[in-house]
Amino acid sequence: MLLLGLAGQAATAIDNSRLYHALQRANDTLEQRVAEEMAERGRVEEALRQAQKMEAIGQLTGGIAHDFNNLLAAVGGSFSLIERRIADGKPGVDRYISAGQDAVRRAASLTQRLLAFSRRATLDPKPTDVNKLIVGMEELVRRSVGPDVEVEVVGQAGLWLTKVDASQLESALLNLCINGRDAMAPGGGRLTVETANKWLDDRAARERDLMPGQYVSLCVTDSGVGMDEETIARAFDPFFTTKPIGQGTGLGLSMVYGFTRQSGGQVRIYSEVGKGTTVCLYLPRHAGQAEEAEPSASEHRIEPGSGETVLVIDDEATLRMLMVDVLEEAGYRVLHAGTGPEGLKLLQSDVKVDLLVTDVGLPGGMNGRQVADAARVTRQGLKVLFITGYAENAAVGNGHLEPGMIVVTKPFVITDFAAKVRELIDS
Ligand code: ADP
Ligand code: MG
Repeated sequence: MLLLGLAGQAATAIDNSRLYHALQRANDTLEQRVAEEMAERGRVEEALRQAQKMEAIGQLTGGIAHDFNNLLAAVGGSFSLIERRIADGKPGVDRYISAGQDAVRRAASLTQRLLAFSRRATLDPKPTDVNKLIVGMEELVRRSVGPDVEVEVVGQAGLWLTKVDASQLESALLNLCINGRDAMAPGGGRLTVETANKWLDDRAARERDLMPGQYVSLCVTDSGVGMDEETIARAFDPFFTTKPIGQGTGLGLSMVYGFTRQSGGQVRIYSEVGKGTTVCLYLPRHAGQAEEAEPSASEHRIEPGSGETVLVIDDEATLRMLMVDVLEEAGYRVLHAGTGPEGLKLLQSDVKVDLLVTDVGLPGGMNGRQVADAARVTRQGLKVLFITGYAENAAVGNGHLEPGMIVVTKPFVITDFAAKVRELIDS
């Protein structure tokens, strides 16, 4: 009896201890699961905060760049007209000089607030063969990184096209290569520029915050010092730099980030301290043909106008004056207005207007697109040249324009502008 009792107790104890361990295990894994869940949520929240912060800073710097573009257009335009007057031996350069100086003064006060250049440039995306682009950049990259860095450029055969602003992609690439050089200084090392076609499935796309699909990747790898977690987390922040004052602006990677995001792509940093760094851009595939680069309009002589009437609407007085002058010199009759409603009043009267040139961002409650649409109600097929600055592309339909409408982005060369006017009137 006693023995049986003992055996029974022992069995219960063993069972209890099994049960206890099993419970303990369940508890442990539960705790672990909760901890993982929390860590994951923390990561997502951190990523969200980061994205919102980048968004806000982008807005700010983009706005400043917009103002700056107006000033550049005024300065550049003044110079062009001064040059032309002098070449033609005509008097009357004074007002262009003071217009230019005025713009410079405003630019100087802006640069005090302007801590950096925007990553929200007005992009001019075109179907682009990135392999051609990197081959074209190879020489410049080599010269920029110096003789201690061995450069290798590897373009994947049969690379898809992507639709990007090629000159922005070139500066992004150069930024990455220069970062690579700095990371390998002073001893030098190895820099690889590489392209590839990438299919991102659901998971791979989610990890990169992209839509699943086909992408072209452009990766720059260096054998430099690498980056720790904290540096990686902050590397895209504008003004974040670990370099000595005067050497780093902290704007390289933020430009790369802004540009790539705006192009519908993503940037990722893969790095380990002491082992080197790879930075990859993923750009959406463009299913279509590459375009041949068209010769710049400034290479052509502008054909003189023959008395057609152009209406110019722009709130920026200096820029408006420059456009009016250049058009008058080119032989057009020019009317002008400083706001949308003012311009529309002219358009709704019966004055002859062969072409409307209008800024998109206008004060007075109507943007340039709305003015054009309202004008076309009575003047069907009116030809329109839109002038846009930063982030106004959406207002003119993101490149989907009706026939007889074109867009010129600021800042522009004033002679290019005149050539576009000619082109549109002749079309
Ligand atoms: P900057 O080059 O002016 O410092 P960036 O925005 O280009 O600004 O880079 C920010 C920071 O990210 C650098 O200061 C550096 O700490 C780090 N970084 C960027 N690229 C690399 C790289 N290839 N290797 C190591 N660190 C890098
Ligand atoms: Mg840099």
